[in-house]
Amino acid sequence: MKSIIRLRNGRDKSLKNRHPWVFSGGIERIEGNPEPGDIVEVHSAVGQRLGAGFYNSTSQMTVRMIADAPVGALSQQFWFDRLDACFARRAGVRQDTTAYRVVHGESDGFPGLVIDVFASVVVVQLSVLGVEPLRDVIEAWIRDRLNPSVIIERSDSSSLKAEGMRPRQALWFGEPGGPIEIQEFGRRFWVDPIQGQKTGFFIDQRDNRQRIPSICGRSVLNLFSYSGGFTIPAAQQGATTVSVDSSESALELVASNLTLNGIDPTGHHTVAADVFDYVRHNDAQYDLVIVDPPALVKRRTDVDKAARAYKDVNRLAFKRTTPGGYVLTCSCSQFVDWVLFRQILFAAGVESGRDIQIVGQFTQPVDHPVSLYFPEGEYLKTFLLRVY
Ligand code: SAH
Repeated sequence: MKSIIRLRNGRDKSLKNRHPWVFSGGIERIEGNPEPGDIVEVHSAVGQRLGAGFYNSTSQMTVRMIADAPVGALSQQFWFDRLDACFARRAGVRQDTTAYRVVHGESDGFPGLVIDVFASVVVVQLSVLGVEPLRDVIEAWIRDRLNPSVIIERSDSSSLKAEGMRPRQALWFGEPGGPIEIQEFGRRFWVDPIQGQKTGFFIDQRDNRQRIPSICGRSVLNLFSYSGGFTIPAAQQGATTVSVDSSESALELVASNLTLNGIDPTGHHTVAADVFDYVRHNDAQYDLVIVDPPALVKRRTDVDKAARAYKDVNRLAFKRTTPGGYVLTCSCSQFVDWVLFRQILFAAGVESGRDIQIVGQFTQPVDHPVSLYFPEGEYLKTFLLRVY
């Protein structure tokens, strides 16, 4: 039976503004007996049907809107059409790379679903309970449209607990081998979709990787390097590089990626260390310093602590930059917005005693779109700074 979520008076405003979340506090009453994970209809206080969404009483975001349509319209064809639309929007990016995101959650009209493609391997992440019953439909679509050799589910987002979901890694289809090769703007990278971090490669840094050749100068310090996404374009441009990461396996990938691109490893160093220690105990200077830490803030309550960490590492990065050189600095923390990140960089700059210009501000690439109505979807903030 169809269940209806009736909103409190005035609480339909955000949905009418196309924001996709209904918070528990906005609900007047629930008609029917929906189970967490069911699809429900949402009506305004005066009985206007606002659309259908994924229901989860465990979550603060009790309904995630899917469509301005009745529940009955959400057939397999509906989901196929929606996924087809996402895929069609990636026609451009597929010209440049074999590693791209096909579906980016709410901003692509599919709350709780991320699909990444790495050549013939597809990685799926579910983060909303209501998507779980759609596993078969999603798999059928992927097999039909993307013709992959392997489909892996890696549902390990930090938000799963709040949804009452368990992390899950599962093979949906095919026989996974080891790492696979992807190509991006002609550069080659090994990606390990099973053991690797995130879904195997930081595809969201694609546009920033393209900026490296014009700013790398003769020497690059790549902090939080992971598999060398920024090291490779700098090395190809003839710069010497130092890649620092705490993960030994990530640094092994840096070395294999240099080889894969036919680059002589002389002049390219990897350092397994805690970046915060490393930058304190090293005073060499570089023409480009890259600061791309993991999300240092996972919860709103951690913001102050993380702000100090961002400030420290950026201050030290400024000190490690040759006069006239660049710092490319990123924050992918949801809870550090542009304004706060800029304040942190301001404080770091003052303490470093260096003169600094902002020469670029960048966000996510085209396959990680941000719905205008869902600013929460924007997470990657990058400043390109010139340090004198
Ligand atoms: N810049 C990378 C992505 C960075 S992801 C790219 O372009 O692909 C963050 C990386 O930081 C991970 O590889 C993780 O192993 C590493 N890391 C996390 N905390 C660290 C720390 N305290 N010191 C050094 N590396 C760290």
